Amino acid sequence: MKILVINCGSSSLKYQLIDSATEAVLAKGLCERIGIDGKFTYQPAGGEKQVSDIDQPDHKKSVSLVLEALTNKETGVIADLSEISAVGHRVVHGGEKFASSTLITDDVMKAIEECNDLAPLHNPANIIGINACKELMPGVPMVAVFDTAFHQTMPEEAFLYGIPYSYYTKYGVRKYGFHGTSHSYVSKRTAEILGLDYNKAKIVVCHLGNGASICAVDGGKSVETSMGLTPLMGLIMGTRSGEIDPGAMEFIANKENLDLKGVMAILNKKSGVLGLSGVSSDFRDIDDAIKDGNAQAKAAKDAFIHRVISYVGGYVAVMNGVDAIVFTAGIGENDKSVRSGVCKNLGYLGITIDEEKNSIRGEETIISTDDSKVKVLVVPTNEELMIARDTEALAK
Ligand code: AMP
Repeated sequence: MKILVINCGSSSLKYQLIDSATEAVLAKGLCERIGIDGKFTYQPAGGEKQVSDIDQPDHKKSVSLVLEALTNKETGVIADLSEISAVGHRVVHGGEKFASSTLITDDVMKAIEECNDLAPLHNPANIIGINACKELMPGVPMVAVFDTAFHQTMPEEAFLYGIPYSYYTKYGVRKYGFHGTSHSYVSKRTAEILGLDYNKAKIVVCHLGNGASICAVDGGKSVETSMGLTPLMGLIMGTRSGEIDPGAMEFIANKENLDLKGVMAILNKKSGVLGLSGVSSDFRDIDDAIKDGNAQAKAAKDAFIHRVISYVGGYVAVMNGVDAIVFTAGIGENDKSVRSGVCKNLGYLGITIDEEKNSIRGEETIISTDDSKVKVLVVPTNEELMIARDTEALAK
C-alpha cells in the first residue's frame, strides 16, 4: 500500500509518500508560507530536491501541488493518484475522545472540531488539511493519528491538576501530553533493539527537539509525560518556558504592564532557550555562543539539562524502576553534550556512558557501556512511519 502522510500546520504542510510494504519513503517535501505567498519543496527518493516559489493561497492549492509532484511524468514516483491507498493525518489534539488512531468519518470530524479550543493553533489547521485532501481525493480512506492518543493510558493521579475538580469535569482541564506518536515509536523500537518484552519494559523517552517532552512508558503504556493541557508545560524548550510558577504570570503581567494574552505570547515565543540565552532557540547557535565564552548561553544550556535531569529522575520514581533511557528528536539525536550532561547525574542508577559511542550522531546506538545497569540509547524518531503504519492498519 502507498500511504500519503500529511502534517498540516496553519501556514505549512509536510508530506511523505510511504510504501507500507517496504516502509520506504518514496518522496517527501514541504509546503511553506501558505496564505502568504508560497514555497514548495519536493524530493523523490534518490532524486534531487526541488525548491520553487509557487503561490499557495490556501491548503487546497498546496495539496494539489503535492499530488501533481507525486504524479509528475519526469520526477514523480507514482503513475496516477489511484496508487495512493490511504492518507494519514497528524492531528495534534484528540482530547479524551481518542485513545488511538481512527478512520475519519463525519462524526470523527465533529469530535476533532470539538477539541479545537484545547489546541486553537493546531487542530483547525489539521482539519483544513483533512478537508483539502478529502476534496481532492474523494473516496480515499483518511486516518487521524493523534499526538495525545498514546498518553490516554495515564492514570488519573498523573493527569489531574491540583485545581477544582469541576474544571476537569466541566472543561477537560487536565494533563493530555503530546509527541505521543514519537514516544510510542521510540519506546517500541528501544524494546526491540534491547530484546526486551515491551509489555514489561520500563522506558523513559526524552524527546528533545525545538518542542521537548519526556515520557515514562511502563509496559508499553504512557504513565506520565511532561507536557500538559497544552505543549507549554514541562521542559525548557526552544522558545517555550516549560514549567514555571503560575504565580509568576501575574507578577510578570504587573511588572511589564501586560495582559494574560501578552504574558502567554512571551511564554510561548520569547522564552525557553531563546529567552534565557538571548542568542537563539537553536542548540547549534547556543553551542557556538558557549564556545565564544557567552555565559548567558551556558546558563540556558545548563538550565535545559537540569530540567531534563529532574524529570528523568521523577519518572524513574513514578515507574519504581527503569530498564532504558532513550534520547530522540533534533537535540536528543545530535547533541552529545546534552546527553552526557543528563547522564552524568544518573550514576546512582548504575548508568555509565561510553563517550566514544555517544559521539555518534543521528543513528540508532546504545551509548551506555556494556556493564551499565540501565541502558541508554539514541533512537531517531519517525513519526511519519508510525502514522503510515496506523493508517495502513485502519485502511485495510
Ligand atoms: P526538532 O524539533 O526535533 O526538529 O529539533 C530541532 C532542534 O534540534 C533545533 O532547533 C536544534 O536546537 C537541534 N539540533 C538540530 N541539529 C543539531 C545538531 N547537529 N547539534 C545540536 N542541536 C541540533
